[in-house]
Amino acid sequence: MKSYEIVVLPGDGVGPEVTGEALRVLARVESFGLFQLNTTIIPCAGSYYVAHGQEWPDGSFDRCKSADAILLGAIGHTLPNGQPVRRADGELAGYEQVIGLRTKLDLYANVRPVKLFPGVTHNISGRFRPVWTPETVDSVFFRENTEGAYAPGEFRLERGGEVELVVSPTIVTRRGAERIVRRAFELAMRRNGAPSDGKRRVTCVDKSNVIRAHRFFRDVFREVSRDFPEIECDYGYVDAFTVALVSRPERFDVVVAPNLPGDIVTDLAAFLQGGMGMAASGNIGDHHAMFEPIHGSAPDIAGKNAANPAASIMSAAMMLRWLGERHGDEGATAAADRIDLAVQSAIGSGAALTRDLGGQATTIDAADAILARLTM
Ligand code: ATP
Repeated sequence: MKSYEIVVLPGDGVGPEVTGEALRVLARVESFGLFQLNTTIIPCAGSYYVAHGQEWPDGSFDRCKSADAILLGAIGHTLPNGQPVRRADGELAGYEQVIGLRTKLDLYANVRPVKLFPGVTHNISGRFRPVWTPETVDSVFFRENTEGAYAPGEFRLERGGEVELVVSPTIVTRRGAERIVRRAFELAMRRNGAPSDGKRRVTCVDKSNVIRAHRFFRDVFREVSRDFPEIECDYGYVDAFTVALVSRPERFDVVVAPNLPGDIVTDLAAFLQGGMGMAASGNIGDHHAMFEPIHGSAPDIAGKNAANPAASIMSAAMMLRWLGERHGDEGATAAADRIDLAVQSAIGSGAALTRDLGGQATTIDAADAILARLTM
């Protein structure tokens, strides 16, 4: 039986609540006896910073580095005056857990499945909804996670104590573009194609008509695509793509984008699947991976047993699927499938509809409904 070291970083706000439910789900699938999880929970981020003056206990990074996988909750703690907790250097407390780990563990692929389950309503339902159905919304987005407009290398010019100029570069490297694009094509080979026509398609979303670095990203995309002649190449400028995604989501199978356009379109894509509470993600590199719901700490609902735990639970399922693939562990893959089915079934029945989905279920009710359907 395979055994995995898992580091859990619950973080701030709703992070500990939804992560707690994901841990209950993981404990359930572990009880099926197909694999073992050794879980280490590390308190961290803004709330920890307020109490201890640092973002996590000494040695935490090394524990993350040696773990088989990391599960993150959310970061961002708000002070009574409404201001977020910041480190001495001005970065949000929790930076080390999100950006720090992405960079130091080279988690270059931000992978976000976008799938609408039966029974999920949007808060604009009935107005634009007809095009967003479980039959039309089913794609996977790959956002480059380590360079682009978010790479370090900012230049500031200060004269007489005043900031006069700030230059923030957009960096695209051949290696950085190639590896994320290749991952996108490799996944497209294993999927069943776009909902509209069943064609395997990878769409490159960028702003290459204006930004030279994005033009390079697209050039690399074309080069990599030659290794995958079975897959249709598709292109979109990020501005026009937002309209296409909302109006014709069924066209998209796998989408790949540099960091900034990827950040924007994945938040929009999350809305198509029911919002923040439904969107799971993985930050995946060649040797390490961290999984997290895409939502933040949601201070408006924190501590109220109101957060939707589905995104965190499905992130835990993504983690098991990744472990299963990496270690050839069918037990972990089967457990991931079971979790996804249980989430779908609990939502479809109405029992796991939290307030963000138009229901009345609490965080714990929703997780209980998922657990009740989790059998092997
Ligand atoms: P960040 O900048 O840290 O990513 P954010 O400012 O984008 O965070 P979130 O914390 O993700 O914001 O919250 C955005 C909105 O979505 C809030 O109204 C919040 O209540 C809601 N929300 C976020 N996560 C959930 C969840 N799991 N269940 C229900 N509602 C959620």
